[in-house]
Amino acid sequence: MKIAMLARNANLYSHKRLKEAAEQRGHELQIINTLRCYMNIASRRPEIFYNGEKLKGFDAVIPRIGTSITFYGTAVLRQFEMMGVYPLNESVGIGRSRDKLRSMQLLARDGIGLPNTTFAHDPKQTEEVIKLAGGAPLVIKLLEGTQGVGVMLADTDKSAQSVIEAFRGAQVNILVQQFIKEAGGEDIRAFVIGGKVVAAMLRKGAEGDFRSNLHRGGSARSIKITPEERATAVKAAKAMGLNVCGVDMLRSSSGPVVMEVNSSPGLEGIENATGIDIAGKTIEFLEKNAKPNKTRTRGK
Ligand code: ADP
Ligand code: GLU
Repeated sequence: MKIAMLARNANLYSHKRLKEAAEQRGHELQIINTLRCYMNIASRRPEIFYNGEKLKGFDAVIPRIGTSITFYGTAVLRQFEMMGVYPLNESVGIGRSRDKLRSMQLLARDGIGLPNTTFAHDPKQTEEVIKLAGGAPLVIKLLEGTQGVGVMLADTDKSAQSVIEAFRGAQVNILVQQFIKEAGGEDIRAFVIGGKVVAAMLRKGAEGDFRSNLHRGGSARSIKITPEERATAVKAAKAMGLNVCGVDMLRSSSGPVVMEVNSSPGLEGIENATGIDIAGKTIEFLEKNAKPNKTRTRGK
């Protein structure tokens, strides 16, 4: 296969591993800087240009589009889709996963467990919002946040109120969520490829932190998840329309609840914690599935 990988930094662990795994299996993988692609939107003749040349002959494309360039990145990916190139994840699925509200709505529609969550654009009725989310302790999240930045815990209704009001003043979008205390600062990352959980890890926050993000000093270890957790992760991937994703769940007293579905999950944490060759499994998935014009949505 000739594979294109849309990525900006060729030196990231995940990107190096995917290139290595593709080459080990006799494929060619070209790293393409997403932001340097330019396109000609002509009727029925989708094309992409890169460094003065027309891109052609690709069997598959691996999108590793950073959250800061979702808008342009998904446009480039759509162009590949319209050219009939098979995407590891489709642009539509990536777009869903980058919008926390849209994701939660889709997951809720399919009956997947979620923390009780409230959102409002202009919560004049702060008290109502707090009540609707079930009252303190509450987690308040910036919609644009990532890697645990912009996730706050309010112990009392009063502190929740002041945090919500401060954000309202700053004109940022937030969601207010029930605090899953029994998760004990731990969360599960289940790595799904092609409708199966191929690896799972338990992440624990740094001492005294309720957030378990590895970027915030947390640690991770391999775990065997329950059949219910497995089914939840697979269902979440399906609801989002993602072939490959990282599903983050909390262990609540009423079963697994999904916090987030990541469409460009990092490989370093999960490969190190589990010893599983995720990069190899990803390429294997493409070997089985990358056929021309097999994209479900083609950007629609
Ligand atoms: P980000 O997308 O920035 O990583 P998350 O929503 O994943 O933000 O939250 C970061 C961490 O905070 C999670 O990994 C989890 O450990 C903790 N956390 C988030 N929401 C809740 C919640 N409702 N209850 C308990 N812990 C939570
Ligand atoms: N940014 C990485 C991802 O997309 C790592 C997130 C984490 O494991 O905390 O999955």
